[in-house]
Amino acid sequence: MPKPQPPVQKNETVEVTFEDLTHEGNGVGKIDGYPLFVPYGLPGEKAEVKVVKVKKNFGFGKLIKATEPSEHRVEPPCPVYYQCGGCQLQHMSYQMQLDMKQKQVQDAMKKIGHLEHVPVHPVMGMEDPWRYRNKVQIPVGQDGDGLKAGFYQKRSHNIIDMDQCIIQDEHNDRMVEAVRRIAEKHGISAYDEESHRGTIRHIMSRTGQATGEIMVVIVTKTKKLPHQEEIINEIVETFPNVKSIVHNVNNKRTNVILGEQTNVIYGDKYIHDKIGDVEFKISPKSFYQVNPVQTKTLYDQALKYADLKGHETVVDAYCGIGTISLFLAQQAKQVYGVEIIADAVNDAKKNAKHNHIENAEFVVGEAENVFPWWKDQGLRPDVVVVDPPRKGCDENLLNAMIEVKPEKIVYVSCNPSTLARDLRILEDGGYETQEVQPVDMFPQTSHVECVTWLKRK
Ligand code: SAH
Repeated sequence: MPKPQPPVQKNETVEVTFEDLTHEGNGVGKIDGYPLFVPYGLPGEKAEVKVVKVKKNFGFGKLIKATEPSEHRVEPPCPVYYQCGGCQLQHMSYQMQLDMKQKQVQDAMKKIGHLEHVPVHPVMGMEDPWRYRNKVQIPVGQDGDGLKAGFYQKRSHNIIDMDQCIIQDEHNDRMVEAVRRIAEKHGISAYDEESHRGTIRHIMSRTGQATGEIMVVIVTKTKKLPHQEEIINEIVETFPNVKSIVHNVNNKRTNVILGEQTNVIYGDKYIHDKIGDVEFKISPKSFYQVNPVQTKTLYDQALKYADLKGHETVVDAYCGIGTISLFLAQQAKQVYGVEIIADAVNDAKKNAKHNHIENAEFVVGEAENVFPWWKDQGLRPDVVVVDPPRKGCDENLLNAMIEVKPEKIVYVSCNPSTLARDLRILEDGGYETQEVQPVDMFPQTSHVECVTWLKRK
């Protein structure tokens, strides 16, 4: 039988009605059953699309015009939205973003976890889904007009010059612009990836939204930061709230932003931030949730699911600087945290002390190795909380949890696919997933965070 040919050709203009959305936020329209994926297309709308890529079973298109636009289409407020790779959903109403994320989690539960019966609640959204991020890392480049600081263009390393990013805390925007201007004034060159020459690579700014404290990190290829004293003075003059200025040296050919050498050149090693009534010290290299408002929502939900009475032993795996651990410790007998980054564990220990919390201990290491070691030492937690990176939990950790049989597992996840995969393993090992609560930590982007809990059968 001859293979069916795709019903469209490259560069052809077609009319489609979008039926669905992918998890990245692309519209899906079908032509005689052949799916076309089209960035910025919204379900329910009719559009003119130019076919840009044709594969055997599906193709890609470029939206020319929504001829009958969806009622959920909105004008993106950011002027560089269509060039920048940072946000994916500014063209849809916030309610549609939330609905799409709920469906994304439901789909993962069904298709990957085979957990049709598990309720996925509506996504907890933000009242004001803008200006929420507390940290920015901006690459620096150069053209005939001087230094440029901005995000990378989609699928490239071209820098889009921009003076603000409307999902960022305004302090961070202003800090990046000030450092760019000061560096330019002193004739400091930008690092060039291709030739591996030049000086300034990235500017990172983190603001403690509850305290107003700001940390700025200037990353250079060179060992020295040229005009260091002048730069410090000018930053401090412009930002009385700056608590920490850090020079980081990264002389490798790499996409990793921070290098190994970190010098505090002004103020403290940390800034502070508060979530609820717990105060945290945050070092330049430590992971800290980027949306503090929604982090509070997420942790409250995790605590509600943990439902601690005060007599429990709790493990917090992938604990970072101890954020969740310290909340748990206020309601448990003892908490043990494990985290792979040594600086973060140091922060966690200091944070426990700083908040007069004496029933939390922290260990540096891989959760998948430390948890089995704890088990051999006789540790039998009542509740285990996990909050792994995007790739999910290591299988050795899941198996060790299944062997140790805690009554309850609370799983915080930033990736519904790996969450569903891991829930399936835990279900097969004797656990029952109760419910999933997605939380919108990253409005305007296609990312979604979830918290869920499992009970031993
Ligand atoms: N629970 C924390 C951090 C979550 S992010 C919070 O809410 O702030 C995930 C953390 O897992 C990061 O701090 C990362 O450094 C850490 N990590 C990554 N792989 C790990 C592993 N194999 N073992 C332990 N920690 C790991």
